[in-house]
Amino acid sequence: MEPATENEWDRLSSSSSDGEEQAASDGSSSQFNRQQHVAFLMMMYESLPHHYQYQEINRITLAHFAISGLCLLGALDRVRVDKDAVSDWVLSLKAHPSNKADLTNGEFYGFHGSPSSQLHPDDNGVLMHNGSNLASTYCALAILKAVGYNFANIDSKSILTSMRNLQQHDGSFMPIHFGAEKDLRFVYCAAAICFLLEDWSGMDRERAKAYILNCQFVQHILCIYADIPLMLLLQSYDGGFGLTPGSESHGGGTYCAVASLRLMGFIEDNVLSKNMSSSIIDLPLLLSWCLQRQAADGGFQGRANKPSDTCYAFWIGSVLRMLGGYNLIDKEALRGFLLTCQSQYGGFGKCPGDLPDLYHSFYGYTAFSLLEEPGLNPLCAELGMTEFSALGI
Ligand SMILES: [Zn+2]
Repeated sequence: MEPATENEWDRLSSSSSDGEEQAASDGSSSQFNRQQHVAFLMMMYESLPHHYQYQEINRITLAHFAISGLCLLGALDRVRVDKDAVSDWVLSLKAHPSNKADLTNGEFYGFHGSPSSQLHPDDNGVLMHNGSNLASTYCALAILKAVGYNFANIDSKSILTSMRNLQQHDGSFMPIHFGAEKDLRFVYCAAAICFLLEDWSGMDRERAKAYILNCQFVQHILCIYADIPLMLLLQSYDGGFGLTPGSESHGGGTYCAVASLRLMGFIEDNVLSKNMSSSIIDLPLLLSWCLQRQAADGGFQGRANKPSDTCYAFWIGSVLRMLGGYNLIDKEALRGFLLTCQSQYGGFGKCPGDLPDLYHSFYGYTAFSLLEEPGLNPLCAELGMTEFSALGI
């Protein structure tokens, strides 16, 4: 969830040489090759290729894609994954306050992205450097859910109490306590963390809603004249959401906005079947923007005039699923596009012919789950993980 621009949004994908990409372009198939995908994820689980070296700091995110991907494929119980070892590794990345007073010292005590972002413990066993952040904490909890860890054993109070240190006056969240960009990605992570820990004391939901809430272009002008803070304006004139107030509508930002509002209880499930005029966002405009993102090749684009990309079948497809408008897309065309991004080695690339990477593979699986591919577990769209992991159903 960390990347902001479209290119950065895809930064978690592994780079590959042009020559290798050519070789993979012949691998598309007319079928979802589940067994090959399981083999691909197991290979990633056991040993990451060197292309991922520069992403070492995001190792927990990569682990989430592999473990939660196996869960989506319905394979986690049938492969050589030591669930206890996985949960022990994840828990080793937790930042711990040295005492209760630390919880209000301005720092966040969530999960680190990798062992290298933790320094050695001092004489009392306390790690001296705290680089824990919201995105890594979301991924940690997603993995722990996937392997069936008992959440009663998690020190949720230290996470939630210190998470309030990250919420800003305007309702947005910083990802880490020593500052960084603030936008919808981290509002979403905070909402997902509270939902998974079943405790909303970690955030001020009304303030977060105020950050997300939006108005149309005409209202935007009115708001300026009426001296309404620009921070309240996130839905763009075209109906989508930008990552920050006033920025261009974007598939990832729109997902974060709608999923956060769903998790916080401000939008009903399948709201399009109900009285849309009572909604806090402009649903017809949002629906129109989402549907227009399905391109002529059947895939979804993240923004207007951009090429189709595997991952937006999740980001925008999930928004449509949450709103109740998923049946309005051309599913066969989407399936056809996604299969052109499927590698003969297992996994999905960003675009047709690209080599597979963990990021696009995971979101390819979520997209096929939305398409109800046989053998895949149902997806909880607002949490980006299986319904069984998220809700126990
Ligand atoms: Zn992408």
